[in-house]
Amino acid sequence: MSRIHPPEFGDLSPDISEILLTENQIQQRVGELAGEISELYRDKNPVLVGVLKGVLFFMADLLRALPIATEVDFLSVANYGGDSRKQGPVRLVKDLETPIEGRHVLFVEDVIDTGLTLNYLLRTLKARQPASLEVCVLFNKPTKRLIDIPLRFKGFDIPDRFVVGYGLDFHEKYRNLPFVGLLKPGVFSPKL
Ligand code: 5GP
Ligand code: MG
Ligand code: MG
Repeated sequence: MSRIHPPEFGDLSPDISEILLTENQIQQRVGELAGEISELYRDKNPVLVGVLKGVLFFMADLLRALPIATEVDFLSVANYGGDSRKQGPVRLVKDLETPIEGRHVLFVEDVIDTGLTLNYLLRTLKARQPASLEVCVLFNKPTKRLIDIPLRFKGFDIPDRFVVGYGLDFHEKYRNLPFVGLLKPGVFSPKL
């Protein structure tokens, strides 16, 4: 992938070393995914389920591009130990408000890495007996996958690098970048 220099984005620009996916590339792919999704779920009134907060931008753009009736709901998880990059068990800190028994559920995720988070959440949702349960993930990092999870809809395969932007954070920062990029090495040094 060719190296693209970040456009000016105020205070945040100096922290970004490289853009992996531009705003245009992301928007175009989200539109394509919306097309595929609407074919599967036409007349099924699916519930799109997202995990806060990383999926915020993807969910908003996907919903606006979906020309079918849908509902949307969110849940939130915490990794034990608080560091979202550590592998390990997660715990539900905010549950869905929608009963999903008998409903067609599309699980919408921003990024899948080891698959541990998604695996835990899918098991939890499956126990509620939805009519169907599929996964749509925007950024797939295949390299460190520990659990094989069928991804019905997938945006991009990306390398095993820590990315920020388009909803993805580093210590709650950088979510508002409209592109996905890499942080300069110096940014990772502890400054909490
Ligand atoms: P998994 O359980 O699949 O290893 O990790 C999933 C979670 O780790 C994601 O939902 C996200 O919160 C976090 N994560 C994984 N890779 C990245 C990344 O490159 N950037 C950011 N900001 N978070 C990531
Ligand atoms: Mg996520
Ligand atoms: Mg995070």
